[in-house]
Formats: sequence, structure tokens, C-alpha cells
Amino acid sequence: MSALVIRNGRVVQARPRALLDVDILVSGDAIAEVGPRGLPAPEGATVMDAAGMLILPGLVNAHTHGHGGLTRGMGDRWSLELLLNAAPWLNGARTAEERYLSTLLCAVEMVQKGCTACYDLTLELPLPTREGLEASARAYADVGMRAVVAPMMADRTLYQAMPALTRALPPERRAEMERLRLPPWEQTLAAAVDVVQSWPLDRGRVTPALAPTIPLHCSDAFMLGCRRAAAEHGVGLHMHVAESRGQAVTGLETYGTTLTGHLARLGLLGPAFVAAHGVWLDDDDLARLADAGASVAHNPGSNLRLGSGVAPVRAMRARGVGVGIGTDAAVCSDNLNMFEAMRAASFVSRIADADPERWLATDEVLAMATEGSAHALGWGGRLGRVAPGYQADLVFLDATHVNYLPLNDAVNQVVHAEDGTAVRRVMVGGRVVVENGRVTTVDLSRLAARAQAAAERLAAASAGARGLADALEPAIVGACRALSAAPYPIERTLAARGG
Ligand SMILES: [Zn+2]
Repeated sequence: MSALVIRNGRVVQARPRALLDVDILVSGDAIAEVGPRGLPAPEGATVMDAAGMLILPGLVNAHTHGHGGLTRGMGDRWSLELLLNAAPWLNGARTAEERYLSTLLCAVEMVQKGCTACYDLTLELPLPTREGLEASARAYADVGMRAVVAPMMADRTLYQAMPALTRALPPERRAEMERLRLPPWEQTLAAAVDVVQSWPLDRGRVTPALAPTIPLHCSDAFMLGCRRAAAEHGVGLHMHVAESRGQAVTGLETYGTTLTGHLARLGLLGPAFVAAHGVWLDDDDLARLADAGASVAHNPGSNLRLGSGVAPVRAMRARGVGVGIGTDAAVCSDNLNMFEAMRAASFVSRIADADPERWLATDEVLAMATEGSAHALGWGGRLGRVAPGYQADLVFLDATHVNYLPLNDAVNQVVHAEDGTAVRRVMVGGRVVVENGRVTTVDLSRLAARAQAAAERLAAASAGARGLADALEPAIVGACRALSAAPYPIERTLAARGG
């Protein structure tokens, strides 16, 4: 097995908080040893000099959407519901080649900004196909990044999911929206299971999962079907849970309990379950998630951009819920920069609470963006630390970059000052995929021309659907305004715990 010894670097460690002057021995794709300077290495080992570099474990993005790569910058004052209303024109009429391209753009951005693994919920309309999902998965493999790729699925339209939106539409539009149907769930789930079973890639690198997207957008029968399939095939389940206040209020009306309460009742929560966002969770919901061993993917940038709110991360952690950090999609956050996501996670914890002792500390944030997210991806104990037995997924930061001048506190500076511009080299499983800040595995100049051409073709192909979505916006804004005025009991518990 090939051996590599990385000498003279300084490892930034979150837990326990430390800056370690150590050498690292990599054997094959994993870290074999971490030890003092001059660490013995096998004869013939390649030597990499990391003098002047800070070394981090690869950051792990707990929640993103590869289909968003071609829609970056779309929409400005969009709430979640307005974004969902736009989803058909943003994501429809895609070829497999465009799905590949979109995901490739995301993967390139992530690795160049120090992220080595992600959980991708990828939308293919009207339902997942082998060709489409494999195209997404192949993009990660080609860049050399790790990913969990889950088809993002629903069997109910936005208008079935949130009847208040339908009621707000002018009568002629209402009839039109009420006629809309997604394919029956049996067909969608069968298509997803077919892909999971026939998965063509190395599951240690790029692996499938299932994402019934949002509770209100999926019938109970569909969610139960996904639960059964996930258990049978040993894959993860990932859903958007209690993201907007409108969803939370509609969930209470629809289910007679919270969204999380309903998922618990259906038996979906478990160690392989990831709840994205979790903004509108009450104390019972936190207990349900913690007791089930489920994780939350915290997406502070997206929660701010879409005005969804501030997730109660301190309360989650206090109750024992595992928390990872995600960027969400390029269409709603608007970069896939895990350094920015960490910084946002730290900062929003400070507006959520008046007591500085309850704010997230930078070492907690760094641990969440590495080990916490790795656990959510199902790769806990394998990714997220620079330690023997862990995969050699490493990020090398230029310690002479202005972000570290002077070096006062490496953990604080990585979380609060770093923006990805000091990333010099990124390694995944011992293989260098970024050198001198540039991805080495794909040709970026070719990618640029293809991305622009795809965007132009899709703009023309989606013009009709876009016109319809634009026409529906005022009614959605009005309906969401009414939902925001409806009482939601969680506000009492949030106020009580200062979260
Ligand atoms: Zn999402």
C-alpha cells in the first residue's frame, strides 16, 4: 500500500481545542499515525512538506442540493414557499448531462472551499431515474469528492401540501393548481429503490440514500414506504423538517401534532435519519430526535436567506441531538462555502440568546462541521478528525494568508476569519484534488462554457413555467402572511428557553 508522510504542518483540532505540531502518516486512503515531528515513515514513503500550512480535517456539508448548481443567484426576496413555487421552472426540463454539470459545479466549489464530503438531496422531475441519479453521483466521483446522494421526492404538490396557498389563489388559477398531480408514490419509490439496488459506484466514496423531501409533501404511505426501503437496503433517510413557520403551522393543522411528532408516530426517526433545518422544533421534538439518535443538519445561511428563522441549536445540543452543519443549495444560500456556514452558525447563535455562555463556541462549531456532519452522513468515526483510522481527507490552509496574520487563535480564526481564500490544497482519501487553490481533477475552463450554454437553454425551456410561477407569487405572499399571523405554540417554549 502506498505511504505518504506529511511533515511540518500544524493540525487545527476542534475537540479538544488545540493547535498541534505533528507529522501525519497516510497509508493508502487512511491516516495510519499522527505523531511528533520526525515521525518514522516506511522506506519509500512519499514526503509532503506542509511547512507554513494549517491542516484541518475536510469539512463535511450535511445538507445541499446538487441540482441547484445551475440556478445560483436566482430569486431575491424569496421565502421558502416562494422558492418551492419556483421549483418547477428552476429544476424542470433538465437532461442528464445538465444534472451532471449542475452537480459538478457544486462539487468543484465545495472542494475548492475545503469541503470533502456532502449530503446531496437531488431533485429530478417528475421522478428519479437511473440515468439522472447516476449523472449526479458521477459528478462527485469525477471531482474526487465524497457524497451521499439521495433522490429528493414527493407525491404531493406544494398546493396539496399547503391548502392555505391554494385557497389564496384566484379561482381560475386555483382550479389549475388543484389539477396538478405528481406521479403515484409507488412509482417514485420503485424508481428510487431501483437506483439504490443497481448503484454503480464505490459506496465508500459516493453512496445512495432516500429523501422524501418534506412531511407535508409526502403522503404517510409514501413516508412509510421510504422507511421500509431505507431499512431494507441499509441507506439513510433525509427530510426537510420544520423549516418554515408556514410548514410548522400547517403541520399542526394537518397532523394534530408537530411535524416531528408525526414523523415519530410513523416510526421514521432513527440513527440513520437526518432532519434538515429544524427551525420550528419544540422541546418534545428535541426529545424525540435525541432519543431516536437522529441528526439535525443546521443550515444557518439558508435559514437567513429565506427568512425561515433561527434554529435552536444550543437547545438541540443540550438535549443530546447530533448536529451537523450544511450550506443548503446554491439557489438559497448562495454559495456552498462551509467556512461561511460555520461563521453563520456561530453568529446566529448569538442573536438567538442573550446569555454568552449559551452561544456556540468556535470549537463546537468546527466539531459540528466535521464530526457532527460526518455522523449525519453515516460516516461517523471515519471522517471528521485528523486521527489514526480516519480517512485522509485533509485541508491545507496557507498560514501566511492574511486570515492568519497574526495567528492568535487558530480555531477562532478558522471559524470566524476564514472564507476559503486560504485553502491551498485539499486531499480526499490521500488523493490531492485541489492544488494551489484550484481543482486538479476537472477542466474548469471547459466547465464555464458548458454551464453558460446550459443556463441559456434552460432559461428558454422553462419560460412558460416561470411565467406561471411569477403569476402565483402575490397569492403565496398573502397566504404566508396569514400563516405567519396564526398562533404557533412553539413560540412559548422558544421564549421560555431564550432560544
Ligand atoms: Zn434543502
